[in-house]
Amino acid sequence: MLLEGGSGNWHWSFSGRTVWFHSEAGDCWWKMPRDFKPEKTHTDLFRVATYTLLSPWVKGILDDWEPTRPHGRFPGLSFSGGIDSTACYVLMPKETVLVHHRRSFKSLLKHDGADRLFKHIRRNDGRLVHSIPSNHERIRTHWDKPNGFSTDLAAAVHLILLADYFDLKGIALGMPIDNTYLWHGYRKRDFGETGWWKKWAPLLSSIGLDLILPIAGVSEATAVHIVQESGLGGVVSSCLRAKHPGCGRCWKCFHKNGMLGHPYDINANEIQTFLNQRPVRTSTHALWWVNEQNHWDQVPDLEYLKDVDFSWWTKHYARSFELLPEWIRQGIQESIEGYTEPIQDDSAFHTWNLFPDAP
Ligand SMILES: [Zn+2]
Repeated sequence: MLLEGGSGNWHWSFSGRTVWFHSEAGDCWWKMPRDFKPEKTHTDLFRVATYTLLSPWVKGILDDWEPTRPHGRFPGLSFSGGIDSTACYVLMPKETVLVHHRRSFKSLLKHDGADRLFKHIRRNDGRLVHSIPSNHERIRTHWDKPNGFSTDLAAAVHLILLADYFDLKGIALGMPIDNTYLWHGYRKRDFGETGWWKKWAPLLSSIGLDLILPIAGVSEATAVHIVQESGLGGVVSSCLRAKHPGCGRCWKCFHKNGMLGHPYDINANEIQTFLNQRPVRTSTHALWWVNEQNHWDQVPDLEYLKDVDFSWWTKHYARSFELLPEWIRQGIQESIEGYTEPIQDDSAFHTWNLFPDAP
């Protein structure tokens, strides 16, 4: 046994290179690198991993606990192979440890795009992406939710578990401004004051892992731009339905792959469904793209937004650099400043609210 919860309702164990997590949601596992040593992994890492996996449903996980793990030496990136994390890959220092969560069940197709990118990175940049298979996305199904991450940080739980193995001092996530300074993608908020930031950033730092959000101050559009500029535009794809360059019929193909010049069918079912939701799914980005491509005829009731100034969408919000840990800030900041202009003080961004009547 590696760690057990106070009331015995969850625990960690291992057999060979497989790490197991047992809870009322059943058993789930991670297949670790061959020379991984579970007993040499700090128990703080198992504790916080538990919190990322169960905290929406199980209380008291962090009770009566004092964190003691010191910071390691390297930054790590939760690398899905999609556009947002690929932009982080471009922005982060070369010493960054790249770790991919390999969803272990169904749909092998979903990894095709990522594997294609990782092979390219291996061949051209000489860098290895560590792929860690796991089935932890099934935990939520115990509470009648679809497969997926229990919390946003569960998307990086493999890095938490491997933080001693890789000697990590920080974990980066590809969260663009759509999910940080915009509430539900359409209303400005002060991200540094949100419950999300105030919960996760100090918790991770307390176990020697600073939270790094390299693209918190730029949009999905800029993430695509960074990926393109770095020469990876022809390799990466966000579509999870079909091989490169994507199916051309899903929302990701519409608003991400479309920018990379891949064709999409505006009349496809999913694209029409999301365009017709109010507020529109991933609003600011989708409507910026509608504006760029002049698709306003697809959303006639929103045509009045044609006059809104979307130009900040391809700039950066300088205050977001304050959220970066001091030790990694400079390089990321300089790189983003090289790709984009700062958002001006009188920009529409500061009072952004595309759907004031929405809840
Ligand atoms: Zn697609």
